[in-house]
Amino acid sequence: MMSYDESAVETLRQYIQIESVSNTTNYEECVTFLKAQAESIGLECKVIQLKPNRPVVIMKWTGMKPDLPAICLNSHMDVVPAEADKWSHPPFSAHIDEHGRIFGRGTQDMKSVGIQYLEAVRRLKREEAVLARTLVLTFVPDEEMGGQEGMKMFVKTKAFRKLNIGFALDEGVASNRPGHFVLFYGEKHKWSVKFHVTGDVGHGCLNIPNTAGAKLARLLKSIYDFREEQFELAGRRVDNPDFVSINATIIQGGTQENVIPSEFVVSADIRLPPKVNIDEWKATMNSWCEDAGEGCWIEEVVCEIIDKPTYLDESNPYYEPFQETIQKMGYQLLPQVCYAMTDARYLRNLGISVFGFTPLTGEPRLHKHDEFIGRKEFLLGITMYYRILLNIGYVPEYN
Ligand code: ZN
Repeated sequence: MMSYDESAVETLRQYIQIESVSNTTNYEECVTFLKAQAESIGLECKVIQLKPNRPVVIMKWTGMKPDLPAICLNSHMDVVPAEADKWSHPPFSAHIDEHGRIFGRGTQDMKSVGIQYLEAVRRLKREEAVLARTLVLTFVPDEEMGGQEGMKMFVKTKAFRKLNIGFALDEGVASNRPGHFVLFYGEKHKWSVKFHVTGDVGHGCLNIPNTAGAKLARLLKSIYDFREEQFELAGRRVDNPDFVSINATIIQGGTQENVIPSEFVVSADIRLPPKVNIDEWKATMNSWCEDAGEGCWIEEVVCEIIDKPTYLDESNPYYEPFQETIQKMGYQLLPQVCYAMTDARYLRNLGISVFGFTPLTGEPRLHKHDEFIGRKEFLLGITMYYRILLNIGYVPEYN
């Protein structure tokens, strides 16, 4: 008989060995694997298809008070691609080295978390624990592609509404500070735009006035002066989530080297902290256009505003027991806003409070070569979820 720990590690390795890269996988192997897990734990399991090859696996453990809103443990099944020749061990081998590091795509982002949820629940069930609240485990597709064909569609289904979810856990990130674990309670808004800069045309050999190029130069100066200011305020930390990040990412325009073009288009990736005033932000962007000159305008490309943040105060009955569990284990939480986007935003926008939490310390290696998780850290994470669930599974208030 394999020990409990050994079999948990083996389960993770099997999941890692499924090559579920977002747009090439058929998800079928994931579904089969997860169904088998649910059965071995004794969880109700259902699979819904959002569209062909976009399944969501839903597992359910009904609590003593099934009328209370349920707790959702969410994870995504897909992973980002891996360039095998740049890895020390094949990215879908789940190789364990002599230091107990398990290598593979998804060991941090976020198959490890999916298995930690399952193993924590397996342990609770084995000990015949009974929670007040119903636990729902969801395994979604397409997160790494933005969740358009995953969580975004899932939250609009009847199956989702029927789950009556009041609180959710989703992915976080490894923390660089020993003994400290990151807790994401919000994420930046994404507001990508195209700045259209137009002007007079003419022969490329003439210094004619009012050209798109001159306006482009002024626009870029405004953008990059502002960017520098934010970077300074952010303590020159590149991922400080409390400040605006802005980058010109594509510049298009022109037809031929000796023709002054009528238009340049600048695409910009913009991320705003949750506290930003949206009207003020619009005014700022408009002022850049005005300063650049007549004929400059803004086309909105992506505007994803998360208007319902998760609060970490007494209005949120889950925070206290969550934090208490971590502290009793001798650790600290580092609450922060996520600098990127996750599926949590689709839940938050329904008013569901979500904690983004990956029980991992050390160097974050998500989306990098040689992504790995230590065997010990992986097992500690199971214990953390086990204790967290025991605590939050009894949160009495409606939220
Ligand atoms: Zn992820």
